[in-house]
Amino acid sequence: MTASAGLYWNPELETLPWPEVERWQAQQIERALPAIRRRSAMYRELHEALPEDLRLASLADLDRLPFTLKEHVRAAQDAASDDAPLGRNQGVPLREIVQALSSSGTTGKPLYYGLTRHDCEVFADAIANTWYTAGLRAEDVVAHLVGLPMVAGGLPYADGFRRIGATLCWLGGFPTDRILREMRRLRCTALLATTSFGLYLSEQWEAVGQETGVPSRLAKVVCGGEPGLNQPEIRHRITEGLSITHLRECMGLGDVISGMWSECEAHEGMHFNAQKHVAIELIDPASGEVLPWRQGATGEIVYTAFDREATPMVRYRSRDHALVVGMGCSCGRTSPRIRCIGRTDDMLIYKGMNVFPTAIRDLVASRFAGHIEPMLRIWKARREQVRFDDPLPVDVEAAAGLPAHRYAEFAHAIENEVRSQCQVRVQVSVQPPGSLPRGVYKNALVVVREN
Ligand SMILES: [Zn+2]
Repeated sequence: MTASAGLYWNPELETLPWPEVERWQAQQIERALPAIRRRSAMYRELHEALPEDLRLASLADLDRLPFTLKEHVRAAQDAASDDAPLGRNQGVPLREIVQALSSSGTTGKPLYYGLTRHDCEVFADAIANTWYTAGLRAEDVVAHLVGLPMVAGGLPYADGFRRIGATLCWLGGFPTDRILREMRRLRCTALLATTSFGLYLSEQWEAVGQETGVPSRLAKVVCGGEPGLNQPEIRHRITEGLSITHLRECMGLGDVISGMWSECEAHEGMHFNAQKHVAIELIDPASGEVLPWRQGATGEIVYTAFDREATPMVRYRSRDHALVVGMGCSCGRTSPRIRCIGRTDDMLIYKGMNVFPTAIRDLVASRFAGHIEPMLRIWKARREQVRFDDPLPVDVEAAAGLPAHRYAEFAHAIENEVRSQCQVRVQVSVQPPGSLPRGVYKNALVVVREN
């Protein structure tokens, strides 16, 4: 059992110099490619022009392979049949698939992925590694607050908690007030939730304690599923509201493995924890050029899952944009540390410039802390609207202490700040405290105005 080693889930790989990890991964990918092509019709077509015996001297040679885009995966799935409900990327016969997963489907139709017994092992190991890096241990009683078993953050996360030996309390799916009471009664020491829910919980936790009369045992909180925890104001609210100091961010991608990144005790960006099963590249999203992993670099993350049978993924473009916070770490792990900047899917275009709603939210949260809540709502006229030529309509929420006669003054100040820092014009409306929706799952930053 590697878990008993104490500091790391996988001591050998987590502390191996990163170039050596990449060399080892290149060998694994070279070995896996012929089988992937044999089994997946999608990859037979995508890799048609490649030589049969492609050699990968290093991970840099991956740039000889084409990217896999979500559109490829979607088209492959649209060719589903009775024998292959997962479509042209189904790499094994149905009898070998033990589980189907669904992407959350926030943009368009959901995509489905399959897991063989081996894939389940791969998922559980990578996700366990992610929880272990985030500081969860066998002694923990973990409240798992994702309510949908079929999404990648559902059953696979649960398997990861059990794999590290923690006590799984899968409370997600119950009504919110019941979740809160049961967390107190079960003496949960840790919880996993979206950042939105973490914020919501921090506002309710005290009251539930008074109602149940059970003192809080909560010590560790892991949040993810959406950007936000890189904001000191949001972190502060969650740690204050729950009286904890152990707050870690996590991230994954349902199409690859749902838990791959998490923060260690240094709290300086999320480590990559799936190196045993997945290789990562950083690319310039516009040109597709591969960028070196070095501190300060930004780009889109590309994943190659070289150890996956049912629905393989090679050079899959995640559409997640990351900032590389650093390489190496005081904790001894060697994997890159990143912060997620935003998703291409959420990106808006104002007069030809790319804008991430999270960037505006983060700016408002940091500059107007104490007066304005760290949340935001951008309105668009139609679901498919991405381009804006007029100022973006933005709602923010006043903090409890801000008198209503100062709303207009703050709206104006935010407009100026966003314009000077993000080069975007916004039209801000300050709303009274409590008026923006607090989602139990994820808070949408951009919403469609119904007429
Ligand atoms: Zn670290």
